[in-house]
Amino acid sequence: MHVLITGAAGFLGSHLTDRLIAEGHTVIGMDNLITGNEENLAHLAGNPGFSFILNDVSNYIFAPGKIDYVVHFASPASPNPTSPLGYPNLPIQTMKAGALGTHNALGVARKHQAKFLLASTSEIYGDPLEHPQKETYWGNVDPIGTRSVYDEAKRFAEALTMAYHRFHNIDTHIVRIFNTYGPRMRLDDGRAIPNFIQQALRSEALTIYGDGMQTRSFCFVEDLIEGIYRLMQTDFHEPVNIGNPVENTILESAELVNEITGNPNGTVIKMAKRLDNDPQRRQPDISRAKELLGWEPKVSFREGLTRTLPYFKQKLGL
Ligand code: UDP
Repeated sequence: MHVLITGAAGFLGSHLTDRLIAEGHTVIGMDNLITGNEENLAHLAGNPGFSFILNDVSNYIFAPGKIDYVVHFASPASPNPTSPLGYPNLPIQTMKAGALGTHNALGVARKHQAKFLLASTSEIYGDPLEHPQKETYWGNVDPIGTRSVYDEAKRFAEALTMAYHRFHNIDTHIVRIFNTYGPRMRLDDGRAIPNFIQQALRSEALTIYGDGMQTRSFCFVEDLIEGIYRLMQTDFHEPVNIGNPVENTILESAELVNEITGNPNGTVIKMAKRLDNDPQRRQPDISRAKELLGWEPKVSFREGLTRTLPYFKQKLGL
């Protein structure tokens, strides 16, 4: 297949690019490099199966040659307002990537009669009132909160994807991605795992927003990519949760990072103000993925963190 991946220079986009190339497909990667990083694709320079186009998907997308699959990953994705890369600091770009970018990406799929996969998110569920979250849950989203630029853009993107499927008969797929971590997350990303790992590697106290009793379920990137790759090959059009169902409080997650890194200041935790609209609990119900894809995560949180450390050590020059 000839695959167009938007957001190819990002954390997940670059890992999916690698997987598709390893499976023998050719990939055109597209990114505007606002939050993506060219270094994530540097190892593909000179690979005949890969080409890169610097472009903002909110503008018209031109992709040369025949496209068989469009995979739309382009978007800022960190909710942290203290990071310059957090979507609260890129609110218009985030809405445009989710709305105009999805429209353009679907337009390419329609022009080529290509298959399409949308990277959606557990943020669709907002601060969920149902637990764990099944795909049938409609969510609890503040439409004007600081996270709404991401949440509502992705909800719009899902609606538009289903409209193209129902009205234009495009073979579309929607993956709802839950918290994922691993090599290639940016140091300045602002999300919990990269923040914790680099604070621990610098022997600093970890910063917890709120009381640390909020939960997340963290999935190692390799497991996530396997789930997405399997979903790409189905005929299933409704959303599918892909994530790790093992739920931890943020405090427990911080403690595990301290333990694995041997942080000498691991007994000290810095408490900071809770972020606006921060979901209190999040855990995917992955029954649909299990049944449809025969997929479930294999890498434990401990193993995944251990496999992530060398990347951050190298980035920090340690
Ligand atoms: N968090 C934290 N300290 C940090 C970064 C994040 O306590 O340095 C918390 C954050 O408030 C949230 C959880 O960790 O409750 C996960 O945040 P993240 O930004 O990783 O992603 P989210 O799941 O909120 O999209």
